[in-house]
Amino acid sequence: MARKSIIAGNWKMNLLPSEGETLVAELKERIRIKENLEVVICPQMALVPLALDWIYDSSIQLGAQNCATERAGAFTGETSPELLKVLGCRYCLVGHSERRSLFGEVDTTVGLKAQALLSMGITPVVCFGETLDQREAGTHLTTIDTQVNAVFKLVEQTGWTRLVFAYEPVWAIGTGKTATPAQANEIHRFVRGRIKELAGDIVANATSILYGGSANATNAADLLGEPEIDGLLVGGASLKAADFAQIIASF
Ligand code: PEP
Repeated sequence: MARKSIIAGNWKMNLLPSEGETLVAELKERIRIKENLEVVICPQMALVPLALDWIYDSSIQLGAQNCATERAGAFTGETSPELLKVLGCRYCLVGHSERRSLFGEVDTTVGLKAQALLSMGITPVVCFGETLDQREAGTHLTTIDTQVNAVFKLVEQTGWTRLVFAYEPVWAIGTGKTATPAQANEIHRFVRGRIKELAGDIVANATSILYGGSANATNAADLLGEPEIDGLLVGGASLKAADFAQIIASF
């Protein structure tokens, strides 16, 4: 099964409706999406229903940044995967490092969210990655292994080939410090090897693993040139049409 290539923009908690609309309009003018590539925008939740209109008539896909572990019920302030489905989201990030560090999200929550999304036919983009302390202490592979393992424990086997992962070293997010293409490729290869052990060859070969962490118009081509990097998750640079368009053109 060929792996899907994905370039996704994580807008985080940025952009007002008029700004989001302008950004998408500019993107639509600038980009030509190649075959085998999915381009996804992930706006903050309140913009999602508007963004569905903005992307109309284009092949840009819609994603969310977070969701609940449950389908519906008494969970004030949460967003159900069921609603995301109705609003046209094909993708949803889970376990972004900002969710983990600022909102106390743990591996179990991440796995449950991934399963809830899959049950609605939405592709979870499961973010994982080590902090600077963990890398310097040499414990990064153990951290990554634990994060990836939890997902396979909590996601039903039927959903395994529909998972997407994103390696996002915490020290590279929003810092301007990118992992080198070789460093990122090495982690992706490690993770694919672990997936092979946990879930078998077919799943490992089908699983797209994106890189995220200060990816930009200048470094995108080199990152995408690595054999184990199946796409990019882009934060800051996805907020500028010219930059995001250039990243997409690097594919
Ligand atoms: C992110 O938040 O997912 C991200 C990769 O951010 P940035 O590209 O700004 O480092």
